[in-house]
Amino acid sequence: MKALVYHGPAQRSWDSVPDPKIEAASDIVVKVDSSTICGSDLHILKGDVPETPPGTVLGHEAIGTVIEVGGSVSTVAKGDRVLLSCISACGRCRFCKEGHYGLCSGGGGWIFGHLIDGLQADLARMPFADTSVYKVPEGLSDVQVLFLADVAINNGVEDARARVMELAYDTFAAAAETHALKVVLHAATNPGPVDAQLGELAVRSPALV
Ligand SMILES: [Zn+2]
Ligand SMILES: [Zn+2]
Repeated sequence: MKALVYHGPAQRSWDSVPDPKIEAASDIVVKVDSSTICGSDLHILKGDVPETPPGTVLGHEAIGTVIEVGGSVSTVAKGDRVLLSCISACGRCRFCKEGHYGLCSGGGGWIFGHLIDGLQADLARMPFADTSVYKVPEGLSDVQVLFLADVAINNGVEDARARVMELAYDTFAAAAETHALKVVLHAATNPGPVDAQLGELAVRSPALV
């Protein structure tokens, strides 16, 4: 497959690399349909993130289609469209149980495109799939959902609301009319489990466009 590979500060290239495979029973492999470029990728490329090993595929936010499923995965199946969050959650450690997935001490947290291969690639392996991916409701486009990968799930809805409102007023005011930001704003200003938000978005999507 092709992927954007980090080769050290200020060095990256679009390389041919081996396809990812299932490594643990809780993994899935997805075909990446849409991905983002994040400020964190730029920090890695600037040399600010020395723990990222050269050779790592960059990227940590995407929409993908499941193409392989590990033996213990029960919540997604081949063919499902899923939102891949920048944060993976083992679902078992103290921090995951408290909902602080970014602090996961069981092998999750921000690992994509940081400590393991990421999502600016044709294919990607997602660990802890049952507790880390979100099925995309029918009727929503990639761009309507993609930005939730970094905002709502990463930080929790309360933090997300504050962060998105800040972004909307300060940075992205001019872009506030775009569908994507409307969706993110909607999700961030309507507290509730993310799955419920996505379901609600599906119902309300005609009003968002
Ligand atoms: Zn990011
Ligand atoms: Zn955990």
